[in-house]
Amino acid sequence: MLLDKYSFGIGDRFAMQGEAQLRALMRASKAIGTDIAPVWNKSNREHIIVGSTPAAVLREAEEAVKALGYGGQWFTDADHINMSNVDKFIEDSNFFTIDVADFIGKRETEDEIEAFTERSLKLADELYLPVEIDEPYLRQLGANYLYAIREAARIYHHIEQSKGRGQFVAEVSMDEAAECQLPDDLIFILHELAREGVGLQTIAPRFHGSFHKGVDYVGDLGVFAKQFEEYMEALNLAVEHFGLPEGIKLSIHSGSDKFSLYPIIGSIARRHGRGFHIKTAGTTWLEEVLGLAMTDDAEAIRLVKFIYSEALERCDELCLPYSTVIDINRQNLPGASEVNAWSGRQFASALRHIPDSPQYNPDMRQLVHVAYKIAAENSDRYLAALKRNAATVGQQVEENIYERHLRRLFDLP
Ligand SMILES: [Zn+2]
Repeated sequence: MLLDKYSFGIGDRFAMQGEAQLRALMRASKAIGTDIAPVWNKSNREHIIVGSTPAAVLREAEEAVKALGYGGQWFTDADHINMSNVDKFIEDSNFFTIDVADFIGKRETEDEIEAFTERSLKLADELYLPVEIDEPYLRQLGANYLYAIREAARIYHHIEQSKGRGQFVAEVSMDEAAECQLPDDLIFILHELAREGVGLQTIAPRFHGSFHKGVDYVGDLGVFAKQFEEYMEALNLAVEHFGLPEGIKLSIHSGSDKFSLYPIIGSIARRHGRGFHIKTAGTTWLEEVLGLAMTDDAEAIRLVKFIYSEALERCDELCLPYSTVIDINRQNLPGASEVNAWSGRQFASALRHIPDSPQYNPDMRQLVHVAYKIAAENSDRYLAALKRNAATVGQQVEENIYERHLRRLFDLP
């Protein structure tokens, strides 16, 4: 089972926007003349907060595919799994994001680190890598990563035992690590993964800069572009020398809303003939809230304002599971009484991610991003509002993915 060159991680908290998201991808696929495979992803964290199951994600995907007569490849992603929770995803998933960030920094035995260092030095020699890649660098890399690599292999082989060889797509993710993995690091990490028999098709490193949920990239675009180019070279080595799949690519997590990066990612990948996997999901929930605010449905507008005022009160609790991936300046959050006086459209304009719009409030957007727990607690009311306003909300979801994401990534007119 080979992942398409281009794939796009979609998903939604409440499994209501499958069709709208798929429509956006089908439109873009048609425009570029190449399939962009939809990957329905939902992390264990989301399942727990919403009370959903991997089977429901599969059902949502199947229904959307059927309704739109979609004939390309599609996947359901066991997103950010580890050994403790992978089993509940095995049956209904065919894409596994093996997250080993928590194992980075755990040390293998000194003997193992020593053996890694020797192997890697030899490899650096064979590949004519620069002299900076010396023994102390490799020893440190082994101390930091060898354990996490072995853990990825344990999980991969565990999945392989149930699903069968070649019957699933594997991604290894390190994006929620405390430190970046530089392109040089990636060479040795990929070499070691290949050595452990992990047939990964995509890898999510932690890149330079900040990838906060729901907002644009914060970091130096020039540094990102240079490194992204070097990551491509690391992938080329992995294909040529380590026997990893030809189409191996990079995954960009928290990939929604990274508007300033899309032209860079798109053009460098195209130049190298490589694809990419962009993982989004939370952005669709934001579009639902925004879409409800845009309606003339007074109850729907009351509901989104209620979600915001609750979120303000429970800010600490809601932000906690996302502490590494959001950055809210609470000084910039409007008070509940202020927001209650707004029109629905004003509320929508504050949330809508148009970076140069004076109404746009990124701090409010990030808070609402993590506030889906409140909608889940009031799911009868929330789902009823979505059903009453399915057309308006669906249009927001589709437009967001197509116009603001895919158009920039694929340089569409
Ligand atoms: Zn991630």
